[in-house]
Amino acid sequence: MNIETQVKKTLKKIKISKKEKILVAVSGGKDSSVTAYLLHKFRYNIEAIHINLGMGIYSEKCLNAVEKLCENLKIKLHVYDIKKEMGKTMPEIFKSKDKKSNNCFLCGVIKKWILNKKARELKADKIATGHNFNDELETFLINIFKGSLKLSANSGPILKTKDKKFTIRIKPLFFIDKKRIEDYIKKLNIKYVRGTCPYRKETYRVEARHFIKKLSDKEKENLMKNLLELAKKIKKDESEIKYCKICKEPSRKEICKKCELLYNKAFIIF
Ligand code: AMP
Ligand code: ZN
Repeated sequence: MNIETQVKKTLKKIKISKKEKILVAVSGGKDSSVTAYLLHKFRYNIEAIHINLGMGIYSEKCLNAVEKLCENLKIKLHVYDIKKEMGKTMPEIFKSKDKKSNNCFLCGVIKKWILNKKARELKADKIATGHNFNDELETFLINIFKGSLKLSANSGPILKTKDKKFTIRIKPLFFIDKKRIEDYIKKLNIKYVRGTCPYRKETYRVEARHFIKKLSDKEKENLMKNLLELAKKIKKDESEIKYCKICKEPSRKEICKKCELLYNKAFIIF
């Protein structure tokens, strides 16, 4: 099945309507650029959102790429500056954090928190991200390595909760292998940022990536099939959504993950 047919099938399966307003989270990288390109090609009602992380030249390149993409596709782009939103750039946040906590994890949690808040303000029905098949398998393995399989409970191309303050997130490229996205984008006239973020420090993810690389397509497919079956089984444990005592955003615990990481006793950074 070609990539376009497969993405269409995923969108149909998770019942995305063309009337809904979808906010595509674009980073400037290949995955989210292809996500925006395809949703636009299939005539979904989309707008784009980009968070400028304040990482010097790297962030300038990302902003430039998303501006070009949205200009070419004629998509409305909303840009938010992390310094304005959080009072610090991402590198400044990294500098003041606990050495043990992982840059990518912290950045991911903060981005999700901002995306959810902005999607609500912009009255979006869904947030679409560029997560691909490999990202999802890696996360699954990391959760197993760390003994926190429960975190894979909501894995799938759509993540919903009943809470109205929480915008449903979708991953149209959930079933698309990284290599196929790379091949596909090469054929399009899209300028995107290659290479990784200069602050990337991921030990587990690199190990998981190496492990996945050695698997055959069939083995990868089986791994994904098992992941989805397991996710369905553990979903029943889903705890009720509460509101964070600090920021009032939706959270599974009394304090949300972002506030827990930022206001941890070990490193008060604000
Ligand atoms: P990452 O957290 O870098 O693995 O990115 C996962 C997904 O989050 C990407 O595919 C994008 O959809 C989204 N994303 C990452 N960085 C940004 C950003 N700076 N602004 C908006 N969305 C982003
Ligand atoms: Zn909070």
